[in-house]
Amino acid sequence: MITILNDNFSELNDFLQEKSFSKIFILVDENTHEYCLPVLLGNMETDLGFEILEIEAGEEMKNVQTAIQLWEILTEMQADRKALVINLGGGVITDMGGFVASTYKRRIQFINIPTTLLSMCDASIGGKTGIDLMHYKNMVGTFTFPERIFVYPKFLETLPFKELRSGFAEMLKHGLIADKIHWKNLVQINKLDIEGIIPHIKTSMEIKQAVVEKDFQEKNIRKNLNFGHTIGHAVESLYLQQGNPVLHGEAVAMGMITETYLAYLEELISEGDCILIIESIRKYYPYLDIGDFKDDDIFSLLLNDKKNMDSHINFSLISGIGACIFDKQCSRKNITKAIDFYRKLN
Ligand code: NAD
Ligand code: ZN
Repeated sequence: MITILNDNFSELNDFLQEKSFSKIFILVDENTHEYCLPVLLGNMETDLGFEILEIEAGEEMKNVQTAIQLWEILTEMQADRKALVINLGGGVITDMGGFVASTYKRRIQFINIPTTLLSMCDASIGGKTGIDLMHYKNMVGTFTFPERIFVYPKFLETLPFKELRSGFAEMLKHGLIADKIHWKNLVQINKLDIEGIIPHIKTSMEIKQAVVEKDFQEKNIRKNLNFGHTIGHAVESLYLQQGNPVLHGEAVAMGMITETYLAYLEELISEGDCILIIESIRKYYPYLDIGDFKDDDIFSLLLNDKKNMDSHINFSLISGIGACIFDKQCSRKNITKAIDFYRKLN
């Protein structure tokens, strides 16, 4: 259940009072410790004891060593099965805290209080928890829903602009795959700032939530959330291999542009819609240069994608604004054409 918090966090306090937790553990990283924890502690009303667990910020921390440290701290602090973990942070914190809570003593309860736009609209919802392994993302994890998700949009006030823009890509995706009105409302935002974005966060969260409720285990419609991510992930990985990482949302924006053109080549959308969508996305994102990457390297990553069953490359592609199909096999010829189209946009 998603709750947008008002300024006194009353719904969170009601929740803490209703349930009989033994103790609270609040997981933060160094940034959410500085910017978000004081707000949470200033508003949280509970007689329960609490401990702060802090990890360094960054994806590099989303690994098994950090998980072991957290399991050990919980053990040393005698966290029992009635303990509550509060994940206060971006997707790294909600993925990591969810994973640790869902495995410690075979599962203790946790709630997510996402503090980045990406974690509000995406990572905190959907019940996927996990850590990276040997440089592979999200290799180990569980499907476990948080007890609740509490969103305080004002946390975004301290978020760096690039992080805000990165999360906005997932909101655009939600509009494109499932809700034309949401899409139209988003692309009317001229200057990306929190005043423009905050009114649309709840709808974006509800879109993801609704998709996940229909298909928790990603057997069918949940695959639609992968729109823009097939090519986007490949490019994100290539940048990472170069030692020059880009933000996830920037790669997804690139992926959505390329896959929108692919949808047009596959005759799923009209030329008019294709142009309109691509122009709208480009308004917000800087051009991500893929000139250094060879088509063969991109294809080799596409073939390794988790979503592929056999040796075919499966896409989730929009079939209109607000509609999407999954498991669409596309020819190498069309994929190459779509990548070429993107290269020439520069
Ligand atoms: P993140 O958690 O690393 O946060 C980005 C940066 O913003 C960090 O430096 C963080 O300390 C800082 N930050 C967070 N909140 C802040 C605030 N309010 N003010 C100032 N700084 C703040 O990254 P993210 O983009 O939120 O999430 C990315 C992670 O989410 C990835 O690991 C990805 O795999 C995961 N993810 C998971 C799912 C899922 O379904 N479980 C979905 C999408 C992404
Ligand atoms: Zn994503």
